[in-house]
Amino acid sequence: MLKRLDIRTCIECGLPYGHAAFSYHAGKSENGPSYWSDRGILCSVVCSTAHFERREREGDVMKAPAPNPLER
Ligand SMILES: [Zn+2]
Repeated sequence: MLKRLDIRTCIECGLPYGHAAFSYHAGKSENGPSYWSDRGILCSVVCSTAHFERREREGDVMKAPAPNPLER
């Protein structure tokens, strides 16, 4: 339950989508997030880098670019 995937929060730090600190495409929340993976959305380049580096260490590298989770 605690690990429930919620695409509306950053999957690294849990920052909610809509927060002022979230990084949006072209700076607007209605444009969707700037960063995401096949696991969910990422709030910033810092979390994006941390996410992909962690998955590289775990041997779980994303094979193909993920579709924008808000456009599914
Ligand atoms: Zn984050």
